Amino acid sequence: MTERRPVTVRFAPSPTGRLHIGNIRTAVLNRLFAKPRGGRFILRLDDTDEERSREEYARAIIDDLNWLGLAPDAMHRQSERLARYDAAAQKLKDAGLLYPCYETERELALKRKAQVMAGRPPVYDRAALKLGEAERAALERAGRKPHWRFRLPSGVVRFTDRVRGEVAIDLATLSDPVLIRADGSYLYTLPSVVDDIEMEITHVIRGEDHVTNTAVQIALAEALGATPPAFAHHALMVNADGGPLSKRAGSLTVAAFREAGLEPETVVSYCATVGTSQPVAAFGDMDELAARFDLENLSRAPARFDERELHALNAKLLHAMDWETAAPRLRALGVDADEALWQAVRGNVEKLADVSAWVEVVHGHITPRIDPQDRDFIAAAARLLPREPWGGHTWKEWTAALKERTGRKGRALFQPLRRALTGRAHGPEMGRLLPLIGRARALERLSLE
Ligand code: GLU
Repeated sequence: MTERRPVTVRFAPSPTGRLHIGNIRTAVLNRLFAKPRGGRFILRLDDTDEERSREEYARAIIDDLNWLGLAPDAMHRQSERLARYDAAAQKLKDAGLLYPCYETERELALKRKAQVMAGRPPVYDRAALKLGEAERAALERAGRKPHWRFRLPSGVVRFTDRVRGEVAIDLATLSDPVLIRADGSYLYTLPSVVDDIEMEITHVIRGEDHVTNTAVQIALAEALGATPPAFAHHALMVNADGGPLSKRAGSLTVAAFREAGLEPETVVSYCATVGTSQPVAAFGDMDELAARFDLENLSRAPARFDERELHALNAKLLHAMDWETAAPRLRALGVDADEALWQAVRGNVEKLADVSAWVEVVHGHITPRIDPQDRDFIAAAARLLPREPWGGHTWKEWTAALKERTGRKGRALFQPLRRALTGRAHGPEMGRLLPLIGRARALERLSLE
């Protein structure tokens, strides 16, 4: 039944920090799943935690998604939907499925300790369910405010995870989850389920740290009379040593990637291909990336984040980037390049900003590098420099003439010319660079004064 509804997915970050590579990946997987299916991609800000949620983070999440090219089709904030959660909570209370509990944190901790010592799992004992009206009234008179737990049904919840396959979770192993805190605020579970129902989410795609929650959420959706969505839990990302990423999360934010000069397509391509059965690859075109993407290709093993791989991917992306895409970005960086220069140098840059060094080589000032033993050769090169107009053939003509005149060939022929004309030992094809440098500047650089 779920399958026939139009595909709708959601990305649901809490605005308690900047997006980092782990949750960017979740956003990418959702976007790419929805795209070829003509589905909707919803941004839902899980901001019911008033203390930790910040407007500046909410704004940054939106900016970051836009920069990544993952702008959502709609956006909701849970803090604006509290009446919906109140209505659902009331429905559960009326059905006797949401019950008040009065234990303090300390009392609960002691209970858990006793259970563990007795060799039992630390599952909430439902003592509060046994309280009578009078006992509850007495507790409230004594100043205790209730928190509210959802009464889980008994039995095993089964679902087919799009990444993990068949999952079965015995609800008897879980405590009745607290849905409402003593101060009346909602924990993540109820708002999430209510929103998934009301926003007609068809597929929940998120990290595998939520697998156990899924059993609770399925039970809760059913208690509210809804059909739960389909689920796909992707493996989490780890660092190169297999450890958690969190410690370095600050350096792995969208902000940090932008600062480092990475292109948005690099980050998106990396997130879409890391931890899959396919090699990491860069795509400049989201549609092409989405067409190749499949949840089934996601590996169940953790995705290893490798910063060098991410940077190498950026270089690959730039090597194939067309001028139409590059031009506005170069302009935004204040790099004054034209199409011919871009075509000549794109294969030799790792970051877009690297282009400015080649602009300098072509149009600006460099220090020619001429070794003493090459002085006669360079003098001959200057004399043989072809007349203008120059084009794609000029380098060949010139070096062929020089070869004949001096007898030099290979490296001994080409390297001194490159070093004199660019001041560098490596770089783009000289055949492309030479006409951009032009005769006057070339002659100046070959002069021996
Ligand atoms: N706010 C939750 C998180 O960031 C959302 C989880 C979900 O997708 O349901 O972990």
